[in-house]
Amino acid sequence: MKVYFVGAGPGDPELITVKGRRLLEQAGVIIYAGSLVNPALLAWAHPEAVCYDSSSLTLEEIVEIMEGAVRRGREVVRLHTGDPSLYGAIREQMEALEARGIPYEVVPGVSSFSAAAAALGREFTVPGRSQTLILTRRGGRTPVPQAENLRALSAHRASLCLFLSAHCLEEATAELACGYGEQTPAAVVYKASWPEEKVIWGSLEDIAAKARQEGIERTALLLVGDFLAGPYQRSCLYHPSFGHGYRKVEKSGG
Ligand code: SAH
Repeated sequence: MKVYFVGAGPGDPELITVKGRRLLEQAGVIIYAGSLVNPALLAWAHPEAVCYDSSSLTLEEIVEIMEGAVRRGREVVRLHTGDPSLYGAIREQMEALEARGIPYEVVPGVSSFSAAAAALGREFTVPGRSQTLILTRRGGRTPVPQAENLRALSAHRASLCLFLSAHCLEEATAELACGYGEQTPAAVVYKASWPEEKVIWGSLEDIAAKARQEGIERTALLLVGDFLAGPYQRSCLYHPSFGHGYRKVEKSGG
């Protein structure tokens, strides 16, 4: 028996992995992050599965439920929103399980940053624009290391995706404007892949006000960078003059 940390995907129940869904169907105990995971996913749970919403539980209580279930011979699914490796607080759960000798496995998921790019119809890495994506958050009750503050990160002018910061977009965009400049394209995606998804386009100058007008306070990502608008170069990889191990250079006229 094991504990599986399963990525639920960004919201649309069809965006869980095939493996994640199978584990959900087989689990005796499911602990899900009720504040973010789409409850529609629980429709796949076994009718006899016991489900717990982790939003009202402490780490200690969660680990106790996991341990009890595994010792009674139940498979456990710990369902995290998006991909568990991003702001999932799974490291401390894994270490607590290790200390108790309980096996676990992580099953990755589709992160909300991928769903946001899909909703926008954009690619984070476009040649001539950016080849780097920064995934970060603004410091709040959970502090961010000083070297990773938004002003410092904005100096790179890379594509950027800001998590957990929908409540402080004014501050975040002002800090980001230091390096990017106020006219840099920005977008907010609220509840990417959910039926109530909203997409808002703008620049660092106006995106916070536009999001506020739409009443967006949580479950949203801010995306910033020149990948959102403007010119770029087509990729070398699929260019006729760019040969590689799987395709020879096309000869002109021949
Ligand atoms: N592990 C998750 C992130 C958890 S942190 C993932 O990989 O996506 C929670 C934050 O993620 C939210 O505050 C919000 O910024 C973002 N988020 C999660 N689901 C989202 C969605 N469907 N649309 C937009 N943002 C989302």
